[in-house]
Amino acid sequence: MSDLPRDDAPQNSNRWRRFAEWDERPLRHDLFAAENPEAGFSVFHSPYDPAPSLSIEGGRVTVMDGKPAADFDILDAFIAAHHIDPDMAATAMAMDPGDIARKLVDINVPRQELEALARGLTPARLAEVVGRLSALEITFAYAKMRQRQTPGNQAHVTNAKDDPLQLAADAAVAVALGFDEIETTMRVASNSWANALACTVGAAVGRGGVLFQCSIEEAEELQIGLAGLASYAETVSVYGTERAFIDGDDTPWSKALLTAAYASRGIKARCTSGAASELLMGFHEQRSLLYLEARCLCLQRAMGVQGTQNGGIDGAPLTASMAGGVRELMAENLIAVWLGLECASGNDCRTSESEIRVGAKITPYLLAGSDLICSGFGSIKKYDNSFNPSLFNGEEIEDYLLLQRDFQTDGGLTPVEEDQVLGLRVRAVEALAAVMEELGLGSVPRARMMSVVFASGSEETESYTAGEVTPISAAIKARGLTAIDVVRALARRGFTQEAENLLLMLRQRISGDYLQTSAMVRDGRVMSAINDPNNYSGPGTGYRMPEPRWQAVQGIRNVLTRERVLAAENVGEGGAEADWLVPAGPAEKGVNPHEVVIGVSPGFGRQLHQTTAGHALADVVAALVGGITAGGGTARVVRMLHTADTSFLGLAAARLSGSGFGIGIQAKGTTVLHQADRMPHMNLELFSNAPLAGLDHYRALGRNAARHTFGEAPEPVMVPTHGEALGARFHVRVALLYAIETGLIEPGGHPVELDYRPEMRAPEAAQ
Ligand code: CA
Repeated sequence: MSDLPRDDAPQNSNRWRRFAEWDERPLRHDLFAAENPEAGFSVFHSPYDPAPSLSIEGGRVTVMDGKPAADFDILDAFIAAHHIDPDMAATAMAMDPGDIARKLVDINVPRQELEALARGLTPARLAEVVGRLSALEITFAYAKMRQRQTPGNQAHVTNAKDDPLQLAADAAVAVALGFDEIETTMRVASNSWANALACTVGAAVGRGGVLFQCSIEEAEELQIGLAGLASYAETVSVYGTERAFIDGDDTPWSKALLTAAYASRGIKARCTSGAASELLMGFHEQRSLLYLEARCLCLQRAMGVQGTQNGGIDGAPLTASMAGGVRELMAENLIAVWLGLECASGNDCRTSESEIRVGAKITPYLLAGSDLICSGFGSIKKYDNSFNPSLFNGEEIEDYLLLQRDFQTDGGLTPVEEDQVLGLRVRAVEALAAVMEELGLGSVPRARMMSVVFASGSEETESYTAGEVTPISAAIKARGLTAIDVVRALARRGFTQEAENLLLMLRQRISGDYLQTSAMVRDGRVMSAINDPNNYSGPGTGYRMPEPRWQAVQGIRNVLTRERVLAAENVGEGGAEADWLVPAGPAEKGVNPHEVVIGVSPGFGRQLHQTTAGHALADVVAALVGGITAGGGTARVVRMLHTADTSFLGLAAARLSGSGFGIGIQAKGTTVLHQADRMPHMNLELFSNAPLAGLDHYRALGRNAARHTFGEAPEPVMVPTHGEALGARFHVRVALLYAIETGLIEPGGHPVELDYRPEMRAPEAAQ
């Protein structure tokens, strides 16, 4: 097939051209993988996966998933020693896996009972059980099993220049958007300290309590954390095969030691694992993605870490390339929460170029909720995302906000207003500049600050370059500056609230409450699986947005109201009657055989003065009248009071017309050409897509009406569409406009003759 030319037009003449159109869609950039267990490409089950089994003798695991203890690798040994609960194992492993799967989706079985069972299940059995659930059942089970009741979200704050001013401004915006955690990484590794300082300051602007991470090599990251310039860490990676571990000079024991080191210094810690990482590293052992991930998660629970960043992560695009891969990512997240771990549930890597696939991928998480729905939502633009593009990025934040509103679900984000954001960005760059000056890290020219404030991304800024940042970063590290120095600097320069916000996070490190499972800080208070446990047990339980939160989620842009519609019409509720249409008594039936009556709606030229296409009604009437005249007819304008319905406007107009032909038109521009003896909805011509109807269309329709009076059958006027989502674009306005029209209906009201005086039209409107 590959020798068939695809871009050569003549050769393509034998091709259904729809395929050529499909080739142009973003989806065609995505590449897909076939199932191939030998090469490590199997999702839920590989023929090389072990069958679930467990033997315990004298409190010690002797056989696990078909392997005797003597053959255990380092993962088996750690899981057998520290994950398997011997008191639960006999019961749990004896249960039918189908029964356990049903318990996961049974609202009558509490989360705690299932968590206890999980402690007695081997990795192969855990994978087997979740593999029995459909995508919908996994979503439902996740909603039930996840740890903290209130959902949260995590952001990436990075930029392509490692520019600290932009980091501070973008961190402040991420905080305003509602992210509970933000994390940075850098293009140049030696800029890590400057990045950490900038994000620490930015995250203290607006509100306190946002956790912050600087993702860098583990020893460096720990040092930054010890300096107080990071409050969580999730870079401790865990793998599902021994060789993948050893390739990184690690073991489960070294990883356990590292997470304990973080936690011991008041730094919230979680591990990272995700499907296909072993495949990417070439050490997959021909096992299925889900089985290897089940091992990773058992290992993490065994290490005692409170949570995991899980759900593909760097391997997510590879997993999503496989059949059922997205379902697998959800399944591994379910194992994580089933094991009682906090779950930052992936969605931090762009798995497709298709916006449809991206929106679909996030939806189950929005429905189920998650401790952190994205373990890295790109709050910055794609090209500034130094972790690589996230599933969602700065470009698509408003789309995400709409998904929350559509499903009435809490994705952890809150709409922001333009003025608010600009104020925060100014505040953030000023605060960082003040800190840098106070700490002797250089003075910041005003022009640099302002270039960042208005910039959407680093391509627009004239601020720091990565090379300029390196000496600043080196100075912070060399001088041993800490978060306390930053607090002092902020306070000295009058940034009192920011100083307090940062101090709040340092106090949290002392109390350690946010080291509990699924902890986040809201309104200065730690919320975790301890004091905000997920108690979902069916309708009316679990998380529901409190009313103020739901109001905030609805605060998106482009919300149209009746008041705004009327304001756009430049009139109040009372209306302002057009002086170019003057009532002239009751309308009677005409006698002129070439007369065409234009029947206008009750609000036409009274409260409403333009069509949804934006044409002034005076221009529309002028076009209709001009067309009728050009076609040899005579126009007459009549206002209907008994109806606002297009068909009946047209029919009533036709019945008053001496020719029997009439035009009905609503103020929003919907227009019909009718004949007196037809059924109401059997019109001659109809402009149903008023937002697309132009003045030329109205003129042509007027002309057609006149030609009908001569017994001709002119070609109907077509208003072409190009598939615009007219309902989405206009129906809010249409419904509001139509309600204004129907509000003016007078049942039984007799049609009113209108004296059409184009010369009376207000000059400013005549353009
Ligand atoms: Ca992350």
